[in-house]
Amino acid sequence: MSKQKYEIPTINKIDFAMASKYGSPVKSQKIRTEIDGVKISELTEKFGSPIFVFSQKQIEEKYHTLHNAFSSRYPDVTFGWSYKTNYLNEICKIYHDLGSVAEVVSEFEYQKARALGVEGKDIIFNGPYKPKADLKIAVEEGAKIHVDNLFEINDLEEIAEELGIKIPVAIRINMDTGIYPQWSRFGFNFENGDALDAVERMYAGGKLYLTGIHSHIGTFMLDANAYRLATMKIMQLKERVERKFNAEIAYIDLGGGFASKSNLKGIYQSAEVVVPTADDYAEAITNAIYEFNKSENLPKLYLETGRHLIDEAGYLLTSVWGHKRFPDGKKGYILDAGVNLLYTSTWYNFNIELDKRYEGDNEASMLNGPLCMNIDIIEENLMLPPLDRGSVLTISPVGAYNYTQAMQFIRYKPAVVLIDKEGTPRVIKEVDDLATINYKEV
Ligand SMILES: *Cc1c(COP(=O)(O)O)cnc(C)c1O
Repeated sequence: MSKQKYEIPTINKIDFAMASKYGSPVKSQKIRTEIDGVKISELTEKFGSPIFVFSQKQIEEKYHTLHNAFSSRYPDVTFGWSYKTNYLNEICKIYHDLGSVAEVVSEFEYQKARALGVEGKDIIFNGPYKPKADLKIAVEEGAKIHVDNLFEINDLEEIAEELGIKIPVAIRINMDTGIYPQWSRFGFNFENGDALDAVERMYAGGKLYLTGIHSHIGTFMLDANAYRLATMKIMQLKERVERKFNAEIAYIDLGGGFASKSNLKGIYQSAEVVVPTADDYAEAITNAIYEFNKSENLPKLYLETGRHLIDEAGYLLTSVWGHKRFPDGKKGYILDAGVNLLYTSTWYNFNIELDKRYEGDNEASMLNGPLCMNIDIIEENLMLPPLDRGSVLTISPVGAYNYTQAMQFIRYKPAVVLIDKEGTPRVIKEVDDLATINYKEV
């Protein structure tokens, strides 16, 4: 009898999951053949792969839903488009055309808003780092300055001195809203009195006065009640300041942070179940204003929602380049998009859909990107049928942050396509090339 050949043992997880309403896990396939009526195959053939695709129709629908939730409950509400969430020119323009002002957190974003024709008075300037020269320009142009720290108060006083004016400012505050870890890095704390102290410090200097109170309590907030608490504390500070300094604070700003329908890793219920609706958020904030308003007038209300408005309107199309069988027996796919474009894959389980139905049973597969980096993993374990070179996957929702945080690392940053309301796709950002990324190098 000849000796049997030694084979390396492997362990494969056997999934006993019962068939659900979506069918059996070895047969079920999630398929998407189009976005807003435009075929996925047409998009990749015409515009290449990988590409980000945005739907103007879906952007506008989400905007109207959220705006109506607030404006039906409150007489004076304005949205500020959070540039860092997505500052592609054509995307910002859509929000400005819908009536949003600009919310920026750096001199770069400020300049971008100005270049898009947004007037200074329609720019909210947030953030912990505002270079003094740029802060001065923002003051001269009448932007809404949201003060983050005492150094900035000093800078603003010097600017007031230089310009011979008194400067209206808003203050950013942070507070306990029952959500932990608490975001206490930005602005001045409410509970320990730092916020009121900072306002006193402003009035003591005689060069600044308060016109607004702002907070941005976090991102992906799954508890609408946190906004009720934030609003309550803003309104309490407003009343104290108005009484103490005989001031009138014209506006309050509740920042952003409303969740989108993406699936956060570690949360096992689906986004449909855990994410509050636009009405939940609007109810929490506007009720608290009515309840705690002690002044004759209602303040103007600003919101700086980013993620909730755009996340689901953005898709990434990526193609299979090849596949392998790893030594442990697992199937691995090489895609043309990786963590260079999906920086947020660490936190979210994306919805990943196939361009058509494929023959064969599903098996647990790993999705890797094109980077020569071991960490370039989009999905560790996804049940997929056998795919081949050229199979296209649609990954969503990726409208928030993924493009602005996409890295020009190893490969060029890809093109971006917008499908307009008529269902016509057009390039709003070309794929980079050597000339566009290298032009400042010597
Ligand atoms: C990032 C940011 C926003 C937008 O946050 P989302 O979670 O995208 O809604 C709003 N305001 C400020 C100050 C921010 O830093």
